[in-house]
Amino acid sequence: MEYASKLLENAVYEVSQLPGIGKRTALRLVLHLLKQPEQQTTLLAEAILKLRTEINFCSSCYNISDTELCEICANPKRDASLVCVVEDIRDVMAIENTSQYQGLYHVLGGKISPMEGIGPQDLNIVPLITKIKEGNIKELIFALSSTMEGDTTNFYIYKQLEGIDVTTSTIARGIAVGDELEYADEVTLGRSILNRVPFENSMKAN
Ligand SMILES: [Zn+2]
Repeated sequence: MEYASKLLENAVYEVSQLPGIGKRTALRLVLHLLKQPEQQTTLLAEAILKLRTEINFCSSCYNISDTELCEICANPKRDASLVCVVEDIRDVMAIENTSQYQGLYHVLGGKISPMEGIGPQDLNIVPLITKIKEGNIKELIFALSSTMEGDTTNFYIYKQLEGIDVTTSTIARGIAVGDELEYADEVTLGRSILNRVPFENSMKAN
């Protein structure tokens, strides 16, 4: 594509680095911003910059948080003996939307994927195991998507728990194999957490 301006070209290039945004869409968005009052672009740029420089992750569950402990971990009404293991914060949001779950979360930050070069050391697995060894967690619920990477990650964590007194379960598969959690509707997702099954059973089924 030929651009009349280097500034335009740079802006289009940066926007097109976002997932799912091609050069054409990027150009449309950039031209849209140019038509808006300048203030709009300033607010957008400041919000992104602030997000990047000031965002914190909960020191316990790695959920995004503006405070040291996220609102969920800091809430005394939540059941701290129950921890739901999820891939990323979108899953926390999806499960929270069901209003069916009163425990805490642990956000791994991804799934083990040899294809993408993501190993256990790249995920928040060690802090999870450390937390469980402290002995206050009674049940760990695996709620990763049931893809091969999700199953591999579940199994890896499960193996790390050998000899530790903790119950493991996995969300019931109302959610079809390969589906991502965030796409499940709230009722299905809510039910699949309430109807969770022992993790050992899910392995036998495979
Ligand atoms: Zn937290």
